[in-house]
Amino acid sequence: MNNSEPSLINNSSHNSKFVWLKHLQPDLILGGSILSLTPQILAEHQLQGLILDVDDTLVPFKRSFASGELIEWVTQIRQTADIWLVSNNLHQNRISTIADSLNLPYLHGAGKPSRRKLRQALTAMNLPAHQVAMVGDRLFTDVIAGNRLGLFTIWVEPIMAKQFTTPSLRNLEVWLSLSLGVTLHSPHKT
Ligand SMILES: [Mg+2]
Repeated sequence: MNNSEPSLINNSSHNSKFVWLKHLQPDLILGGSILSLTPQILAEHQLQGLILDVDDTLVPFKRSFASGELIEWVTQIRQTADIWLVSNNLHQNRISTIADSLNLPYLHGAGKPSRRKLRQALTAMNLPAHQVAMVGDRLFTDVIAGNRLGLFTIWVEPIMAKQFTTPSLRNLEVWLSLSLGVTLHSPHKT
């Protein structure tokens, strides 16, 4: 209708590119680790369920146990939201040990950005997709998978011990997403 508008979005040859761009955009950029996700933030976005990534979101990749801080966080959050763990990790032993220590249900070997196991967790929660958040540290797995299923997506900083460096694959994803025009600035940071 408006001839002066940029035509790229409406150009069908670019549609598939823009669909993926849209899926890379988190609904909320926390600007901190998962421990900074509060019941207030969940209430603000009417969230009643959380699907959590495990490696580097809950537990640093090089550790195999849940910290006391994380156990406390889960205890607080589960009073207002159903929680499932959905991990791409193929090692069931690692994921089940972490899930058991938090007393949470889990699915491993999820193959995110595949939606399959996210959908399984969502079905078990029996909640509408928009009231459930996919929370993770990776754009190309967690955020894309959550957005593809219509979940609210929350991108968190990796929960890393200070001596570990940030995973380079995550940095590459961030660089690529920024260069594609994805907005990754935390609204909570000034
Ligand atoms: Mg992760």
